[in-house]
Amino acid sequence: MGVPGKAYLIGAGPGDPGLLTVRAVELLGRCDVVLYDRLIPAGALDSLVATGTELVYVGKEPGRPSMAQDEINARLVELARAGRTVGRLKGGDPFVFGRGGEEAEALAGAGVRFEVVPGITAGVAAPAYAGIPITHRDGASAVAFVTGHEDPDKPEPVLDWDALAAFPGTLVFYMGVRNLEPIAWSLVEAGRPEGEPVAVIERGTTGRQRTATGTLGDIAARVAEAGIKPPAITVVGAVVDLRDELAWFEQGRPLMGKTVVVTRAREQASALAERLSRELGAEVVAAPVITTEPLAPEEVDPALGPIDRYDLICLTSRNAIDPFFAALRRRRLDARALAAARIAVIGSSTAALLAERGIDADVVPGRQVAEGLIEALAGEEVDGRRVLVARAAEGRDLLPDALRERGAQVDVVALYRTLPLPPSRASLEAAARADYVTFTSSSTVRYFVEAIGDAFPRAARIVSIGPATSATARELGLEVHVEAARHDVDGLIEALLEDARSS
Ligand code: SAH
Repeated sequence: MGVPGKAYLIGAGPGDPGLLTVRAVELLGRCDVVLYDRLIPAGALDSLVATGTELVYVGKEPGRPSMAQDEINARLVELARAGRTVGRLKGGDPFVFGRGGEEAEALAGAGVRFEVVPGITAGVAAPAYAGIPITHRDGASAVAFVTGHEDPDKPEPVLDWDALAAFPGTLVFYMGVRNLEPIAWSLVEAGRPEGEPVAVIERGTTGRQRTATGTLGDIAARVAEAGIKPPAITVVGAVVDLRDELAWFEQGRPLMGKTVVVTRAREQASALAERLSRELGAEVVAAPVITTEPLAPEEVDPALGPIDRYDLICLTSRNAIDPFFAALRRRRLDARALAAARIAVIGSSTAALLAERGIDADVVPGRQVAEGLIEALAGEEVDGRRVLVARAAEGRDLLPDALRERGAQVDVVALYRTLPLPPSRASLEAAARADYVTFTSSSTVRYFVEAIGDAFPRAARIVSIGPATSATARELGLEVHVEAARHDVDGLIEALLEDARSS
């Protein structure tokens, strides 16, 4: 046997991917295999693990066969013993109603090294996002975390209702939605006032958070009326009333309640996802179905002429920047080799990345597509000049063709290729019930359609970044509902917002 492996019991937080800990993010980036549950942020996992990490779904879901706890324990031990770095990602905190204790015991018993990474538990996070401080100087000086779902195999109920009713502070119930009525009347029967405020928070911290409030006397009816379903947290106590003033998360965000799929390549998904969720309140499903990979030097270098002799260099994507400079280094050159060349890029984000290298692009088109760059280059002298077009292996020939027509000597060099990345089951499930699917390139359309197959969200509105992407979508039989007028992330968000406002 080789080097012994290690298992990490990692808390994933309550749903908002921003509530993962720094340690969790760091570990997910280097685990070889991750066993995960249903309650982790949909799709967040795909963008956090390294390409090639094995993702194993072991969650329990009502009405579906699930992996038994013993089997999960055994899998963890077996994988770690085989020398793997194993992540066991669990919703919220692994040791709060997550059976993480049993998993740790199994690992300890088998002599496997392990670490526990605490997570933000739903009983703290969901009330916070609903505007309910679970403790308060005025009258809530203790808080109890209680299970609302007792182990059906236990002969006697373990909850002591008299003690809970007498508890001097806030009660927070996990897993209690289905038993809400008996929970409420057990508390009242044991002496808790019938008029005591109660809140039930569904899918707290996500774009689908909903909250119902009432009293112990009427909360069950109100929750039934609102159609609130698990997963939800129930908060009992006077602090619930503070929500009237403090419900910061549920107010003023135009995409609250909408699920939006982001299919941009994982390296680029974050800016779009971040704005949609944090500023606008959408539930973002990152289905980063493509990734890019630099081509090997032996594929790149033969196609590349003397770099310091190009008159014009066109970099067609931000993915081209790193491999381009790597090629420069292989020839023992640095940025000074570009001193004589004019430099053109397709998009402002490519220009920004180039600026970090100390180079200001000379040509940045307003319309960020190949056609836009061709237009923007109309004023450049290219006849008889040496031009380099650096791009993706599967790039279109529009730009080199247009330049050749104007008499340029064009070298086309592919620096990277785009690869499909199979989305996890959690992302696909979340994507299947989306309100919007956004496409930022033709390849994202192709790969997403292929990956999701029959589960494609028929009712979703489709948002495309520009005409080339829309054309591909239509070729594949999709109806494009919204096309951005400006072909960049801001333009796409603007178009989506306008559509959400008018529908
Ligand atoms: N270990 C988890 C709890 C697992 S038990 C934690 O620390 O949060 C599962 C229960 O957690 C659900 O039935 C629900 O009561 C609660 N829960 C988990 N995520 C939630 C969320 N986003 N919003 C509301 N409740 C949630």
